[in-house]
Amino acid sequence: MAGVVVAGAGQAGFQVAASLRTDGYEGSITLIGDEPWLPYQRPPLSKAFMTGKQDIEATTLRPETFYPDHHIDLLVGERVVAIDRAQCTVTLASGAAISFESLVLATGACNRLLPIKGESVICDPVTRRSPSQHGCRTRKMSW
Ligand SMILES: Cc1cc2nc3c(=O)[nH]c(=O)nc-3n(C[C@H](O)[C@H](O)[C@H](O)COP(=O)(O)OP(=O)(O)OC[C@H]3O[C@@H](n4cnc5c(N)ncnc54)[C@H](O)[C@@H]3O)c2cc1C
Repeated sequence: MAGVVVAGAGQAGFQVAASLRTDGYEGSITLIGDEPWLPYQRPPLSKAFMTGKQDIEATTLRPETFYPDHHIDLLVGERVVAIDRAQCTVTLASGAAISFESLVLATGACNRLLPIKGESVICDPVTRRSPSQHGCRTRKMSW
């Protein structure tokens, strides 16, 4: 059944999916995020995590079991690349097409880095979790 598709599995996308289910929505819910992690909170990355008071895993909003337990289909590492409003489908970078009755765009925003010449290690303003789990603290920039 084509239910709700949420594009973007940040805090907003996660909360839409979770609230729909806990508030009684009975249709299918598909939460799609292009980052490879379970949905997580960004604020601790520049606070408790950065100061070493919180493990990176503690930023995760809910454990993996939350999603099947609440009948939410979570697709991580998948990017929505096209929306067909007439057919009510989204297409993923992997090529799969998913039908929706309602589509939520919760894709957030990205910072634009200043094109400053030179090379320096700066505090990364687009702080996100990274494969090294430390790359989100600083990033070496060079132009
Ligand atoms: C380091 C840091 C500290 C912060 N501290 C605070 C704070 O103290 N207090 C506060 O109020 N706010 C804080 N914020 C801001 C807060 O984290 C953001 O407002 C919040 O994350 C926004 O959530 P969002 O879900 O709207 O967007 P995002 O967090 O940007 O999530 C959107 C998600 O959608 C994904 N996405 C984008 N396009 C696609 C696509 N086509 N297909 C699939 N997925 C896609 C993105 O990769 C991302 O994972 C902080 C932010 C950062 C980075």
